[in-house]
Amino acid sequence: MTPPDAPLPPGATIGILGGGQLGRMSAMAAARLGYRCHIFAPEADSPGMQVSAAATLAAYDDVQALHRFADAVDAVTFEFENVPAATLAALEGRVPCRPGLRALSVCQDRIAEKRFLAEADVPVAPWREVTSEAELQAAISAIGLPAVLKTTRLGYDGRGQAVLRAPEDAGPAFARLAPRPLILEAFVPFVAEISAIAARGLDGAVATYDAVENRHRHHILDLSFAPARLPSESAALARDHVARVAASLDLVGIVALEMFLLPDGRLLGNEIAPRPHNSGHWTMDACICGQFEQHVRAVAGLPLGPTTRHADAVMRNLVGPEGLAAWPSLLSRGDVVAHWYGKGEAHAGRKLGHANRLLPRDTLRDLDDDGALGGI
Ligand code: AMP
Repeated sequence: MTPPDAPLPPGATIGILGGGQLGRMSAMAAARLGYRCHIFAPEADSPGMQVSAAATLAAYDDVQALHRFADAVDAVTFEFENVPAATLAALEGRVPCRPGLRALSVCQDRIAEKRFLAEADVPVAPWREVTSEAELQAAISAIGLPAVLKTTRLGYDGRGQAVLRAPEDAGPAFARLAPRPLILEAFVPFVAEISAIAARGLDGAVATYDAVENRHRHHILDLSFAPARLPSESAALARDHVARVAASLDLVGIVALEMFLLPDGRLLGNEIAPRPHNSGHWTMDACICGQFEQHVRAVAGLPLGPTTRHADAVMRNLVGPEGLAAWPSLLSRGDVVAHWYGKGEAHAGRKLGHANRLLPRDTLRDLDDDGALGGI
Protein backbone atom coordinates (compact mmCIF):
# COMPACT_ATOMS: atom_id res chain seq x y z
CA MET A 1 0.00 0.00 0.00
CA THR A 2 1.23 3.53 -0.78
CA PRO A 3 2.17 5.37 2.43
CA PRO A 4 -0.18 8.33 3.09
CA ASP A 5 2.57 10.93 2.72
CA ALA A 6 4.10 9.52 -0.49
CA PRO A 7 4.12 12.03 -3.37
CA LEU A 8 1.22 11.72 -5.80
CA PRO A 9 2.51 9.86 -8.86
CA PRO A 10 2.45 11.55 -12.28
CA GLY A 11 -1.01 11.34 -13.78
CA ALA A 12 -2.73 11.53 -10.38
CA THR A 13 -5.71 13.85 -10.01
CA ILE A 14 -5.90 16.87 -7.72
CA GLY A 15 -9.40 17.99 -6.81
CA ILE A 16 -9.93 21.74 -6.42
CA LEU A 17 -12.93 23.24 -4.62
CA GLY A 18 -13.75 26.47 -6.47
CA GLY A 19 -13.50 27.38 -10.13
CA GLY A 20 -12.08 30.92 -10.14
CA GLN A 21 -8.79 32.24 -11.45
CA LEU A 22 -6.81 30.86 -8.51
CA GLY A 23 -8.05 27.36 -9.33
CA ARG A 24 -7.32 27.97 -13.00
CA MET A 25 -3.71 29.00 -12.40
CA SER A 26 -3.23 26.12 -9.92
CA ALA A 27 -4.57 23.68 -12.55
CA MET A 28 -2.21 25.10 -15.18
CA ALA A 29 0.75 24.68 -12.81
CA ALA A 30 -0.43 21.14 -11.98
CA ALA A 31 -0.56 20.23 -15.67
CA ARG A 32 3.07 21.30 -16.05
CA LEU A 33 4.00 18.88 -13.27
CA GLY A 34 2.09 16.04 -14.93
CA TYR A 35 -1.09 16.07 -12.81
CA ARG A 36 -4.72 16.30 -13.82
CA CYS A 37 -7.19 18.55 -12.01
CA HIS A 38 -10.86 18.06 -11.25
CA ILE A 39 -12.76 21.24 -10.37
CA PHE A 40 -15.78 21.13 -8.04
CA ALA A 41 -17.80 24.36 -8.32
CA PRO A 42 -21.41 25.48 -8.62
CA GLU A 43 -20.80 27.69 -11.70
CA ALA A 44 -20.60 26.24 -15.23
CA ASP A 45 -17.70 27.13 -17.56
CA SER A 46 -15.71 28.62 -14.69
CA PRO A 47 -12.12 29.75 -15.39
CA GLY A 48 -10.78 26.67 -13.57
CA MET A 49 -13.00 24.22 -15.47
CA GLN A 50 -11.82 25.58 -18.83
CA VAL A 51 -8.30 24.22 -18.22
CA SER A 52 -9.02 21.09 -16.17
CA ALA A 53 -9.44 17.44 -17.13
CA ALA A 54 -12.69 16.98 -15.20
CA ALA A 55 -15.39 19.02 -13.53
CA THR A 56 -18.26 18.50 -11.13
CA LEU A 57 -20.96 21.13 -11.37
CA ALA A 58 -22.72 20.95 -8.01
CA ALA A 59 -23.53 22.93 -4.89
CA TYR A 60 -21.03 22.89 -2.01
CA ASP A 61 -23.64 21.21 0.22
CA ASP A 62 -24.38 18.36 -2.22
CA VAL A 63 -22.95 15.56 -0.07
CA GLN A 64 -23.47 12.81 -2.66
CA ALA A 65 -21.62 14.84 -5.30
CA LEU A 66 -18.85 15.53 -2.76
CA HIS A 67 -18.47 11.83 -2.00
CA ARG A 68 -18.26 10.98 -5.75
CA PHE A 69 -15.69 13.78 -6.11
CA ALA A 70 -13.63 12.35 -3.21
CA ASP A 71 -13.64 8.94 -4.90
CA ALA A 72 -12.49 10.43 -8.22
CA VAL A 73 -9.44 12.40 -6.96
CA ASP A 74 -6.21 11.65 -5.08
CA ALA A 75 -6.02 14.82 -2.95
CA VAL A 76 -8.22 17.89 -2.48
CA THR A 77 -7.39 21.56 -2.11
CA PHE A 78 -9.49 24.74 -2.26
CA GLU A 79 -8.99 28.01 -4.05
CA PHE A 80 -11.07 30.34 -1.89
CA GLU A 81 -11.58 30.39 1.84
CA ASN A 82 -15.33 30.78 1.85
CA VAL A 83 -15.84 27.12 0.96
CA PRO A 84 -18.25 26.01 3.74
CA ALA A 85 -16.43 24.14 6.51
CA ALA A 86 -19.08 21.39 6.18
CA THR A 87 -17.94 20.80 2.58
CA LEU A 88 -14.40 20.04 3.69
CA ALA A 89 -15.73 18.01 6.64
CA ALA A 90 -17.65 15.81 4.15
CA LEU A 91 -14.38 15.11 2.29
CA GLU A 92 -11.93 14.68 5.17
CA GLY A 93 -11.41 11.04 6.04
CA ARG A 94 -12.21 9.99 2.45
CA VAL A 95 -9.36 11.78 0.69
CA PRO A 96 -6.36 13.86 1.88
CA CYS A 97 -7.45 17.52 2.18
CA ARG A 98 -4.56 19.98 1.92
CA PRO A 99 -4.91 22.40 3.63
CA GLY A 100 -7.36 20.83 6.07
CA LEU A 101 -10.39 21.97 8.02
CA ARG A 102 -8.47 23.67 10.82
CA ALA A 103 -6.64 26.14 8.53
CA LEU A 104 -9.88 26.85 6.69
CA SER A 105 -11.88 27.42 9.89
CA VAL A 106 -9.32 29.78 11.45
CA CYS A 107 -9.26 31.94 8.33
CA GLN A 108 -13.05 32.09 7.94
CA ASP A 109 -13.61 33.97 11.16
CA ARG A 110 -11.87 37.24 11.98
CA ILE A 111 -12.03 36.56 15.73
CA ALA A 112 -10.51 33.07 15.43
CA GLU A 113 -7.93 34.61 13.11
CA LYS A 114 -6.97 37.35 15.60
CA ARG A 115 -6.65 34.83 18.45
CA PHE A 116 -4.58 32.55 16.24
CA LEU A 117 -2.26 35.40 15.18
CA ALA A 118 -1.63 36.33 18.81
CA GLU A 119 -0.78 32.67 19.58
CA ALA A 120 1.57 32.59 16.58
CA ASP A 121 3.28 35.70 18.00
CA VAL A 122 2.14 38.04 15.23
CA PRO A 123 1.01 41.36 16.75
CA VAL A 124 -2.45 42.67 15.77
CA ALA A 125 -4.33 45.95 16.31
CA PRO A 126 -6.48 46.15 19.49
CA TRP A 127 -9.90 44.56 18.89
CA ARG A 128 -13.17 43.62 20.63
CA GLU A 129 -15.96 41.23 19.78
CA VAL A 130 -19.31 43.04 19.25
CA THR A 131 -22.69 41.30 19.49
CA SER A 132 -24.89 44.22 20.60
CA GLU A 133 -25.02 48.00 20.38
CA ALA A 134 -24.07 48.19 24.09
CA GLU A 135 -20.99 46.08 23.38
CA LEU A 136 -20.13 48.38 20.49
CA GLN A 137 -20.24 51.41 22.84
CA ALA A 138 -18.03 49.57 25.35
CA ALA A 139 -15.63 48.58 22.56
CA ILE A 140 -15.41 52.21 21.38
CA SER A 141 -14.65 53.34 24.94
CA ALA A 142 -11.88 50.73 25.19
CA ILE A 143 -10.33 51.15 21.73
CA GLY A 144 -11.13 54.78 20.87
CA LEU A 145 -11.92 56.31 17.49
CA PRO A 146 -11.31 56.08 14.60
CA ALA A 147 -12.01 52.36 14.45
CA VAL A 148 -13.24 49.84 11.90
CA LEU A 149 -16.36 47.74 12.46
CA LYS A 150 -16.31 44.50 10.44
CA THR A 151 -18.44 41.39 10.04
CA THR A 152 -16.49 38.46 11.40
CA ARG A 153 -17.31 36.19 8.44
CA LEU A 154 -17.63 36.37 4.65
CA GLY A 155 -16.05 39.81 4.26
CA TYR A 156 -13.73 40.43 1.34
CA ASP A 157 -12.47 43.34 -0.75
CA GLY A 158 -13.69 45.80 1.89
CA ARG A 159 -17.27 44.41 1.94
CA GLY A 160 -18.98 44.10 5.31
CA GLN A 161 -17.10 46.88 7.06
CA ALA A 162 -17.49 50.51 8.15
CA VAL A 163 -15.02 53.08 9.40
CA LEU A 164 -16.25 54.87 12.55
CA ARG A 165 -14.73 58.34 12.81
CA ALA A 166 -17.14 60.02 15.24
CA PRO A 167 -19.44 58.64 18.00
CA GLU A 168 -22.52 59.29 15.83
CA ASP A 169 -21.21 56.86 13.15
CA ALA A 170 -21.69 53.92 15.52
CA GLY A 171 -25.51 53.53 15.38
CA PRO A 172 -25.90 53.55 11.55
CA ALA A 173 -22.88 51.26 11.06
CA PHE A 174 -24.23 48.78 13.61
CA ALA A 175 -27.70 48.89 11.98
CA ARG A 176 -26.18 48.17 8.56
CA LEU A 177 -23.87 45.30 9.59
CA ALA A 178 -25.83 43.60 12.44
CA PRO A 179 -27.26 41.07 13.25
CA ARG A 180 -24.16 39.33 11.88
CA PRO A 181 -21.39 38.82 14.48
CA LEU A 182 -19.05 41.81 14.42
CA ILE A 183 -15.58 42.85 15.49
CA LEU A 184 -14.34 46.37 16.24
CA GLU A 185 -10.69 47.00 15.40
CA ALA A 186 -8.60 50.07 16.13
CA PHE A 187 -7.95 52.05 12.95
CA VAL A 188 -4.29 51.47 12.07
CA PRO A 189 -2.43 54.57 10.80
CA PHE A 190 -0.39 52.44 8.41
CA VAL A 191 2.20 53.82 6.01
CA ALA A 192 1.87 50.84 3.66
CA GLU A 193 0.00 47.56 3.24
CA ILE A 194 2.39 44.63 3.02
CA SER A 195 1.84 40.96 2.38
CA ALA A 196 4.05 37.92 2.45
CA ILE A 197 3.50 34.38 1.26
CA ALA A 198 4.78 31.09 2.63
CA ALA A 199 4.52 27.57 1.32
CA ARG A 200 4.61 24.58 3.66
CA GLY A 201 5.23 21.07 2.39
CA LEU A 202 3.83 17.77 3.60
CA ASP A 203 7.20 17.17 5.31
CA GLY A 204 6.85 20.44 7.30
CA ALA A 205 9.45 22.38 5.25
CA VAL A 206 8.59 26.09 4.94
CA ALA A 207 9.66 28.45 2.15
CA THR A 208 8.80 32.16 1.99
CA TYR A 209 8.74 34.72 -0.81
CA ASP A 210 9.88 38.32 -0.60
CA ALA A 211 7.29 40.59 1.03
CA VAL A 212 5.44 42.95 -1.30
CA GLU A 213 3.68 46.31 -0.99
CA ASN A 214 0.04 46.34 -2.07
CA ARG A 215 -2.11 49.25 -3.26
CA HIS A 216 -5.87 49.05 -3.52
CA ARG A 217 -8.37 50.88 -5.71
CA HIS A 218 -12.08 50.87 -4.84
CA HIS A 219 -11.24 48.22 -2.18
CA ILE A 220 -9.78 45.84 -4.81
CA LEU A 221 -6.08 45.03 -5.07
CA ASP A 222 -4.66 47.17 -7.89
CA LEU A 223 -0.86 46.88 -7.65
CA SER A 224 1.79 44.79 -5.91
CA PHE A 225 5.38 46.04 -5.84
CA ALA A 226 7.85 43.16 -5.45
CA PRO A 227 9.91 43.37 -3.40
CA ALA A 228 8.33 45.91 -1.03
CA ARG A 229 10.50 48.99 -0.62
CA LEU A 230 10.95 48.35 3.12
CA PRO A 231 13.73 48.64 5.67
CA SER A 232 15.49 45.25 5.61
CA GLU A 233 14.46 44.44 9.22
CA SER A 234 10.76 44.92 8.36
CA ALA A 235 11.14 42.82 5.21
CA ALA A 236 12.73 39.99 7.21
CA LEU A 237 10.06 40.35 9.92
CA ALA A 238 7.27 39.98 7.33
CA ARG A 239 8.76 36.69 6.14
CA ASP A 240 9.22 35.48 9.74
CA HIS A 241 5.60 36.29 10.56
CA VAL A 242 4.17 34.36 7.61
CA ALA A 243 6.51 31.42 8.19
CA ARG A 244 5.24 31.18 11.79
CA VAL A 245 1.65 31.37 10.57
CA ALA A 246 2.24 28.49 8.12
CA ALA A 247 3.89 26.32 10.79
CA SER A 248 1.38 27.13 13.56
CA LEU A 249 -1.57 26.41 11.25
CA ASP A 250 0.05 23.05 10.46
CA LEU A 251 -0.86 23.94 6.89
CA VAL A 252 0.06 22.07 3.72
CA GLY A 253 -0.04 24.47 0.79
CA ILE A 254 0.28 28.23 0.39
CA VAL A 255 -0.68 30.86 2.94
CA ALA A 256 -0.69 34.64 2.56
CA LEU A 257 -0.52 37.09 5.45
CA GLU A 258 -1.66 40.69 4.94
CA MET A 259 -0.02 43.19 7.27
CA PHE A 260 0.03 46.89 8.04
CA LEU A 261 3.41 48.65 8.16
CA LEU A 262 3.56 51.20 10.99
CA PRO A 263 5.65 54.38 10.81
CA ASP A 264 8.21 52.84 13.23
CA GLY A 265 8.75 49.78 11.00
CA ARG A 266 6.64 47.35 13.05
CA LEU A 267 4.09 45.14 11.28
CA LEU A 268 0.58 44.27 12.46
CA GLY A 269 -1.15 41.19 11.07
CA ASN A 270 -4.54 41.80 9.45
CA GLU A 271 -5.77 38.83 7.42
CA ILE A 272 -4.69 35.29 6.57
CA ALA A 273 -5.60 33.51 3.33
CA PRO A 274 -4.80 29.76 3.32
CA ARG A 275 -4.46 29.58 -0.48
CA PRO A 276 -2.58 31.19 -3.37
CA HIS A 277 -3.14 34.94 -3.14
CA ASN A 278 -3.58 37.80 -5.59
CA SER A 279 -0.58 39.58 -4.06
CA GLY A 280 1.55 36.54 -5.02
CA HIS A 281 0.80 36.63 -8.75
CA TRP A 282 4.14 38.34 -9.40
CA THR A 283 5.92 35.12 -8.34
CA MET A 284 4.63 33.37 -11.49
CA ASP A 285 7.09 35.27 -13.66
CA ALA A 286 9.71 36.69 -11.27
CA CYS A 287 10.57 33.59 -9.21
CA ILE A 288 12.02 30.24 -10.14
CA CYS A 289 9.03 28.46 -8.63
CA GLY A 290 5.87 30.60 -8.46
CA GLN A 291 3.11 30.33 -5.85
CA PHE A 292 0.82 28.11 -7.94
CA GLU A 293 3.50 25.53 -8.69
CA GLN A 294 4.52 25.70 -5.04
CA HIS A 295 0.93 25.07 -3.95
CA VAL A 296 0.63 22.06 -6.25
CA ARG A 297 3.98 20.70 -5.04
CA ALA A 298 2.81 20.92 -1.41
CA VAL A 299 -0.61 19.38 -2.11
CA ALA A 300 1.02 16.58 -4.13
CA GLY A 301 3.60 15.87 -1.41
CA LEU A 302 6.53 16.88 -3.64
CA PRO A 303 9.51 18.83 -2.27
CA LEU A 304 9.00 22.61 -2.32
CA GLY A 305 10.74 24.56 -5.08
CA PRO A 306 13.10 27.53 -4.78
CA THR A 307 11.41 30.85 -3.98
CA THR A 308 14.39 32.80 -5.34
CA ARG A 309 13.39 36.07 -7.04
CA HIS A 310 15.29 36.49 -10.31
CA ALA A 311 13.65 39.81 -11.25
CA ASP A 312 11.82 42.68 -9.59
CA ALA A 313 8.17 42.96 -10.57
CA VAL A 314 5.12 45.16 -10.49
CA MET A 315 1.81 43.31 -10.75
CA ARG A 316 -1.29 45.16 -11.97
CA ASN A 317 -4.72 43.61 -11.79
CA LEU A 318 -6.78 44.01 -14.96
CA VAL A 319 -10.23 44.84 -13.61
CA GLY A 320 -13.54 45.45 -15.44
CA PRO A 321 -13.88 47.38 -18.73
CA GLU A 322 -10.70 49.35 -18.00
CA GLY A 323 -8.69 46.12 -17.67
CA LEU A 324 -10.18 44.81 -20.91
CA ALA A 325 -9.18 48.03 -22.71
CA ALA A 326 -5.57 47.77 -21.43
CA TRP A 327 -5.10 44.15 -22.54
CA PRO A 328 -4.04 44.60 -26.22
CA SER A 329 -1.35 47.20 -25.45
CA LEU A 330 0.09 45.04 -22.64
CA LEU A 331 0.49 42.14 -25.05
CA SER A 332 2.76 44.16 -27.31
CA ARG A 333 5.26 45.05 -24.56
CA GLY A 334 8.60 43.37 -24.14
CA ASP A 335 8.73 43.76 -20.35
CA VAL A 336 5.27 42.43 -19.44
CA VAL A 337 3.88 38.92 -18.99
CA ALA A 338 0.09 39.14 -19.27
CA HIS A 339 -2.41 36.61 -17.89
CA TRP A 340 -6.12 36.44 -18.81
CA TYR A 341 -8.61 34.34 -16.87
CA GLY A 342 -11.22 33.41 -19.51
CA LYS A 343 -14.15 35.09 -17.74
CA GLY A 344 -17.22 36.13 -19.73
CA GLU A 345 -18.48 39.65 -19.13
CA ALA A 346 -16.12 42.52 -18.20
CA HIS A 347 -18.33 43.71 -15.30
CA ALA A 348 -17.08 46.69 -13.29
CA GLY A 349 -14.97 45.42 -10.39
CA ARG A 350 -14.43 41.95 -11.91
CA LYS A 351 -10.83 40.68 -11.92
CA LEU A 352 -10.25 39.58 -15.54
CA GLY A 353 -6.49 39.10 -15.62
CA HIS A 354 -3.22 40.57 -14.45
CA ALA A 355 0.01 41.88 -15.90
CA ASN A 356 3.47 41.35 -14.42
CA ARG A 357 5.96 44.01 -15.43
CA LEU A 358 9.47 42.59 -14.92
CA LEU A 359 12.45 44.79 -14.08
CA PRO A 360 16.10 43.87 -13.52
CA ARG A 361 16.61 42.52 -10.00
CA ASP A 362 17.23 45.13 -7.28
CA THR A 363 16.29 48.12 -9.44
CA LEU A 364 12.78 48.76 -8.08
CA ARG A 365 13.96 50.31 -4.82
CA ASP A 366 15.55 53.24 -6.70
CA LEU A 367 12.43 54.03 -8.74
CA ASP A 368 9.45 56.21 -7.87
CA ASP A 369 5.95 54.89 -8.59
CA ASP A 370 5.85 56.21 -12.17
CA GLY A 371 9.21 54.66 -12.96
CA ALA A 372 8.18 51.36 -11.39
CA LEU A 373 4.91 51.22 -13.31
CA GLY A 374 6.43 52.22 -16.63
CA GLY A 375 2.94 52.98 -17.96
CA ILE A 376 1.31 49.59 -17.32
P1 AMP B 1 -9.79 43.63 5.12
O1 AMP B 1 -11.07 43.14 4.55
O2 AMP B 1 -9.62 43.38 6.58
O3 AMP B 1 -8.58 43.17 4.30
O4 AMP B 1 -9.81 45.21 4.92
C1 AMP B 1 -9.85 45.83 3.65
C2 AMP B 1 -9.02 47.10 3.66
O5 AMP B 1 -9.53 48.03 4.62
C3 AMP B 1 -7.57 46.89 4.05
O6 AMP B 1 -6.79 46.50 2.93
C4 AMP B 1 -7.19 48.27 4.60
O7 AMP B 1 -6.92 49.16 3.52
C5 AMP B 1 -8.48 48.72 5.27
N1 AMP B 1 -8.46 48.34 6.70
C6 AMP B 1 -8.91 47.18 7.22
N2 AMP B 1 -8.76 47.13 8.55
C7 AMP B 1 -8.18 48.29 8.91
C8 AMP B 1 -7.74 48.85 10.14
N3 AMP B 1 -7.91 48.19 11.31
N4 AMP B 1 -7.15 50.07 10.11
C9 AMP B 1 -6.99 50.75 8.96
N5 AMP B 1 -7.41 50.29 7.76
C10 AMP B 1 -7.98 49.08 7.71
